[in-house]
Amino acid sequence: MAGFEYQRGKLFCEEVDLASVAEDVGTPCFIYSGSMLMETYGQFQRALKPLPGIICYALKANGSLALCKMLASRGCGADVVSGGELYRALKVGFPPERIVFSGVGKTEQEIRLAINANIRQLNVESLPELDLVAVTARKLETRARIALRVNPDVRPDTHPYLTTGAEETKFGLNLKDSLSACRKAAAWPNIQLTGLHFHLGSQITSTEPYVEALQKVLALIDELRGLGITISELDIGGGLGIAYHDETVPTPQQWLDAIRDDLKRSGCTVIIEPGRALVGPAGVLLTRTLYLKKTLRKNFLVVDAGMNDLVRLSLYGAFHHISPVWQKTGKRLRVDIVGPVCESADFLAHQRDMIHPEAGDLLAVMNAGAYVASMASNYNGRRRVAEVLVCGQRYALIRRRETFEDLVAHELIPGLVLEACADGREAD
Ligand code: PLP
Repeated sequence: MAGFEYQRGKLFCEEVDLASVAEDVGTPCFIYSGSMLMETYGQFQRALKPLPGIICYALKANGSLALCKMLASRGCGADVVSGGELYRALKVGFPPERIVFSGVGKTEQEIRLAINANIRQLNVESLPELDLVAVTARKLETRARIALRVNPDVRPDTHPYLTTGAEETKFGLNLKDSLSACRKAAAWPNIQLTGLHFHLGSQITSTEPYVEALQKVLALIDELRGLGITISELDIGGGLGIAYHDETVPTPQQWLDAIRDDLKRSGCTVIIEPGRALVGPAGVLLTRTLYLKKTLRKNFLVVDAGMNDLVRLSLYGAFHHISPVWQKTGKRLRVDIVGPVCESADFLAHQRDMIHPEAGDLLAVMNAGAYVASMASNYNGRRRVAEVLVCGQRYALIRRRETFEDLVAHELIPGLVLEACADGREAD
């Protein structure tokens, strides 16, 4: 698969030398491989193909308009979790009939936007939300298509913050409540209950949790059918992990093969919502070393990317491989790779052996396509970085680096502040 590889000692993205991108757009910056994204999308398509189903890309992983546009052009759908993501998905051309809307805290305005846009389904997560959807649909004199999000109480082996299908999490309804919610939904004239949904979590590295969840959800579907309630769509969420470190992870094919018989048995159209596995490996964060700082206890490689650009490390204790853009020879030095942000949690790696590290080196933080740019912030007055898409020998900016002006563009200094300032001066 085309992606990130060394050619004559230099790291390339497809046929573009990463160092030349750094020269051109500066660092830090994100670089994505268009071919790798399309190839991975093809893997999901081929894996799903024998089943009736659609792929709804989870925009939260990376909502870049350019990346979304490429996916939408191949027939991909979208999984959104806010009015903002819905806006983005529609703007970029995901067809409404391929958009699903998840999330525990949809506002009335968001529900209204989704119904008016005529999206495929709202994935409803609680009884009060079901009521609000029904009332909103009645006001709009229409029927809202919904799937009910079931919490199957399954615990995949992932970080607790990435677990969403265990009963103590805020997501979905437990099996018993799902049954009564479905009965209620089926009776509402303004609701069209089409499906069931679950999403077990993220960075899941085995297929067992899906097998376990499906046993429970298929039993629920059977029970509902016995009550005359037809479920025609089964949305199994996303969650497939990637190899950040040395994990072995199922391929999309292995993932779906492990549950194919159960999915078939459901008789439903299947929806999958991959995010991380689709875009994660297709992106890197390119950063430049500012200083090698040696102290009595440790060596610090201070780079120009910080936790505001990549918060996964401090948030989840995540691991990312860090590859030098120029392969070197020489002595190894054990370093902490840290950013410029004023927090000790601002690090890219702890105690990593690097060959002859020095100021000016370019480093690529690998597997940075998912939950990195989309989680970036302006903390410490830092500008969000440029993003670049590579296609073969060509590349283009898909997000410009923010300016200092951008940092203050939405702020206001109203009259009352000026008056308070003047009062203060008078009092002095
Ligand atoms: N679907 C839902 C409802 C989610 O909450 C998420 C992520 O948390 C996803 C899909 C995508 O998960 P992943 O990126 O792990 O595939």
